[in-house]
Amino acid sequence: MLVPLELAMLARKNIHLSPELALGWRLGRYAHDWFDGLDQVRIAACGHEDILTALRRLARCPEQGSVTRPAGPRSWDILFLHHLTGTALKMVFLKRLTTLSPALKGLEGKLDDGDPEIVLMYQDGINELISTIVTADPASFCQFSEIRCRVVQLDAAKRPVRCPECLAQDIDRLVEVENHIRCPSCAGLEPEWLAA
Ligand SMILES: [Zn+2]
Repeated sequence: MLVPLELAMLARKNIHLSPELALGWRLGRYAHDWFDGLDQVRIAACGHEDILTALRRLARCPEQGSVTRPAGPRSWDILFLHHLTGTALKMVFLKRLTTLSPALKGLEGKLDDGDPEIVLMYQDGINELISTIVTADPASFCQFSEIRCRVVQLDAAKRPVRCPECLAQDIDRLVEVENHIRCPSCAGLEPEWLAA
C-alpha cells in the first residue's frame, strides 16, 4: 500500500499506522484546504486517540498542537471553527465505512493464537480500510456541514433568564447559530469555545 509521505512520517512517530490515524490526517488535510490553512481554526475531536494525534500535528490555534477533547458526547466526530469568521465545519463519520467490519473486528481476540491465516486476513482488512480512507473522496465516508455562528453581545440587563431554545437557566452568554439564538450548551458546537 502506498501511503502519502506525511502520513507515513506521522505513523512512524506514532509507532503504527492505524485507520484512525489515517482518518484524522485525511480529514485534517481536507479542513486545511477547505479553510485555506488552519492558523485561525480551532479543532475538537471525539473518539480514538489516534484521530487526535493526527489532528494535533496539523493544529495551530490557539497554539501549535491544540486539539480539544470534549468533556461529553457531541453530535459530531470532528469540529473545526474559524474563530475570526465564525465559520464551523462539522464532520460526522459514516461508521460503516470508517471502522472494521464486525467480522474482522471479531478476529482481534484470535490474533495472539498464532494462526498466520487469521493474522493475514486481519492485516489485509486493516490495509484495505486505510487505503480507502487515504484515497477515496472524503464525502463518501464522512458527512460535512458548514455552520455559521457568532457570540451575541448583550448587556447583562438585556440577557434573557433562560435559553430560548433549551430553556436552560443562568446562562451567561448567547450565541447565534444558523439564525437561531441559543446558549453555548445547546448550540451543537464546542461550548468552551463560545466565550464572549
Ligand atoms: Zn440552550
